[in-house]
Amino acid sequence: MNNGQSGGIFIVTENTMDKLNILTAAAKYDVACTSSGVERTGGSSGIGSTISPGVCHSFSGDGRCISLLKVLYTNECIFDCKYCINRRSNDVRRTSFTPEELAELTISFYRRNYIEGLFLSSGITRSPNTTMEQIYQVLLLLRYTYNFHGYIHVKAIPGADDELITRTGWLADRMSVNMELPTAESLNKLAPHKNRANILTPMRRIQTLRDSDREFHGELLTDSATLTTASDNLPISHNNKSTEAVSCKSKFCKPAVMKAGTRRFVPAGQSTQFIIGASDDTDYQIIKVSEALYERFDLKRVFYSAFVNVNLDSELPDTSKGSEMLREHRLYQADWLLRYYQFKADEILSPEYPSLNTLVDPKCSYALNHLEMFPVEITTASYHTLLRVPGIGVTSARRITSVRKHSAGLLTFNDLKKIGVVLKRAQYFITCGGKSLVPIRITQSFILANMLGLKDNLPKGLTKEQTYEQLSLFDVSDIVENRIEQISC
Ligand code: SF4
Repeated sequence: MNNGQSGGIFIVTENTMDKLNILTAAAKYDVACTSSGVERTGGSSGIGSTISPGVCHSFSGDGRCISLLKVLYTNECIFDCKYCINRRSNDVRRTSFTPEELAELTISFYRRNYIEGLFLSSGITRSPNTTMEQIYQVLLLLRYTYNFHGYIHVKAIPGADDELITRTGWLADRMSVNMELPTAESLNKLAPHKNRANILTPMRRIQTLRDSDREFHGELLTDSATLTTASDNLPISHNNKSTEAVSCKSKFCKPAVMKAGTRRFVPAGQSTQFIIGASDDTDYQIIKVSEALYERFDLKRVFYSAFVNVNLDSELPDTSKGSEMLREHRLYQADWLLRYYQFKADEILSPEYPSLNTLVDPKCSYALNHLEMFPVEITTASYHTLLRVPGIGVTSARRITSVRKHSAGLLTFNDLKKIGVVLKRAQYFITCGGKSLVPIRITQSFILANMLGLKDNLPKGLTKEQTYEQLSLFDVSDIVENRIEQISC
């Protein structure tokens, strides 16, 4: 091992490696680390690039994403969130990077092909502003000293000044502020130094500036008056597309110049994370807040992380009888319905039924609870109605509406199979040309019993013994193949 930089090549010292070990281990409970949506080439002016499918990912044994350099800037946290390994009352090894160390480490790993980008989170060292300023300095070094064009996802620190959030946002691809818990009461109980206001304020700031930037670049539908207002709101370096140089006051920014009009504000959008099972909050409360965040704050993603009890705090639930992984999985499925299937949170759950069904996915659960809406006639149903049928996804619903236009509404079950409809699931909920694959009157328990009898439908974490398979009178899947043949002939 060598010290620091040598002939332009950064050598990772033992001290830096030690910090890296501590701060990557400390970051592993943050799951909000996928990337998406940014397309940018490095060109000849720097190194690194991103492609729109996002950074490639791999996953560690415990399912956490490790493809980016996922690290904390510091774990010397002054806050005392009860669920967190890095809380100030824990006796763990503490350390912090310097901005130079972390920027050099990132570049050195990038050059060695270890990573494709950076996911940077942090504990709160001294104050939210101090922490945000340090994170900003890391990004400034990466972007303007090392000309790094690769993907950077960075945390916005709750309670940091708008100005620091803004400056950081012009350098990052994605930002996230973790909600952690959906209600003010839970936050107050388990994260007493955080509150909804200091979490939602940076979220709103990011959303507003992102909207302004997108309007300025013609990506949001708007009238010209709005566009003028939006561009007036942009910092001078971004509403002037000339090559005017803008001074940067940071001592780390050697070129001290940003080319105007070249950067976008948080182009991959913002995300957040909920911890599932650390509090008594219900699935209904969680997806209601997720829905509000998507609709009112234009969030790209909400992540759900099953609670891992690392502190054995008396105020935290006992997880020795099993984790909340299945619940986390169901919340991701419900989230999918909110984002892609035009569902409302109130259609999925309600205050009276606040928990997601562990036996079947939320869409199937919705269908079973609304049998009065089924069967749906495939040849005439609207796109919106098709999306509510288990076994019909966004792509197959689109294909059905498209094929109908060119086939005078004539479709067979064989056609549906070719289109990609999963008939093993959809069969109970559809008719095609007035015909059904299930030649008997269907009931909720009949469908549930047969669906769970299908091996590939068993949710993770459930054994066959826990399913309704024993109630099934016969496996309907065998007769379905025959029915398709008969009906299609
Ligand atoms: S602010 Fe809370 S969650 Fe974040 S590192 Fe500190 S103790 Fe952990």
